[in-house]
Amino acid sequence: MSERLVILGAGESGVGAALLGKAKGFEVFVSDMGALKDNYRDELNDAGIAFEEGRHSTGLILNASLVVKSPGIPDNVPIIRELKNKNIPVVSEIEFAGRYTSAKKICVTGSNGKTTTTTMIYEMLKLGGHNVGLAGNIGQSFARQVATMDYSYYVLELSSFQLDGMFEFKADVAVLMNITPDHLDRYNNNMQEYINSKFRIIQNQRVNDVFIFFADDELIAREIKTREATQMLAPFSFSRILTKNGAYVINDKMIVNYNQNKFEMTIYDLALQGKHNLCNSMAAAIVGKVADIRNEFIRECLTGFAGVEHRLEKYISVHGIEFINDSKATNINSAWYALESMTKPTVWIVGGVDKGNDYSELTELVKEKVRAIICLGKDNTKIVNAFAGVVPDIVETESMQHAVKSAYFMAEKGDVVLLSPACASFDLFNNYEERGKMFKEEVRNL
Ligand code: ADP
Repeated sequence: MSERLVILGAGESGVGAALLGKAKGFEVFVSDMGALKDNYRDELNDAGIAFEEGRHSTGLILNASLVVKSPGIPDNVPIIRELKNKNIPVVSEIEFAGRYTSAKKICVTGSNGKTTTTTMIYEMLKLGGHNVGLAGNIGQSFARQVATMDYSYYVLELSSFQLDGMFEFKADVAVLMNITPDHLDRYNNNMQEYINSKFRIIQNQRVNDVFIFFADDELIAREIKTREATQMLAPFSFSRILTKNGAYVINDKMIVNYNQNKFEMTIYDLALQGKHNLCNSMAAAIVGKVADIRNEFIRECLTGFAGVEHRLEKYISVHGIEFINDSKATNINSAWYALESMTKPTVWIVGGVDKGNDYSELTELVKEKVRAIICLGKDNTKIVNAFAGVVPDIVETESMQHAVKSAYFMAEKGDVVLLSPACASFDLFNNYEERGKMFKEEVRNL
């Protein structure tokens, strides 16, 4: 009798895992508490895979030999508890798919910068001629690609929720961008639990594997000291000169050393500007060296990288006012970096649903860079209170149209209008993508 694979959550990762499970001979059952998207329902039907929607039927789930859980389902919901009580293994789609590929896996995690860095690394490997797939939180699921493609490398963006469901999986190259408080509600408001989750990126690594990390991040630096490194370490830093493996910046030059092999370029030639993007470029360049990419291709990638939509995306200028879409900035840390990288007087559109933001962390930057604040949210009290007296003009709005028009009105020629909300979007929008798209639409309508 074949083993029973139960998949909880029928989004891109769940459906991918179902297809892979079927291909590997499992008896597959998919269960989703919500309604399935039409395309996924059709796909499961076409593949002859059994599924249910709108409920989790315990009778059909608790007889599983293995469960793949979507990262969106928290550990404390009843069905997961019951599975754990019965000692039925519950893993993430990445763990499951990792068992069926011998490709080299380059994995990127962190509180911010994951998508940008993952995409940059993927582009670099492609330019360098590697046969490479891009997966994790981006695009087609890893499981789907393992089932249908034959890549020799994968670049995977991993959230802490995916890492929590990973046990035997090993990253050949692990990249940890930074750790700042985020999603703490899922970690019992315990920062150490969140740090442990992020550090699962290096579990099972051995001597020939590589760990790339941001050495200036205090939480990462502190945690590393408590662990014994078995793998090769390749840090990146602004404050330390790393003559062994790693990357650093000195005299406006980025320098990468790996196995006595050097790469350097001036930071002004980097396509993505700002200190945070320098982190992303350093991390990607180290991976480039590890993967034996020629220096000319590393340079070509870092100078030509077009960026990712909604991440400090320079959209268009209207009458000398530049509009930048950073809708993906859903926490204070990413908004901090966005403001930090502004070189012109800025009208800042901020607000939405915050996860316990402490706006005082932004006061100094706001004082220095921001000409006016446009609040965009249902409840703007915290923002108004935080910046009254810091910025002369604060306008409250409840729609993107009103926000963009007000920003345009407040800005002068040569200014920037920056949408970098520091908050989630679901009070007024379905998601950050919709928020960013509406921003661009309203800018076009000016
Ligand atoms: P993630 O996938 O981790 O959410 P993204 O690459 O999508 O990260 O970027 C999310 C937001 O964080 C964007 O607003 C971007 O400008 C900002 N950001 C990008 N890289 C970094 C970094 N290394 N450190 C801090 N913020 C960053």
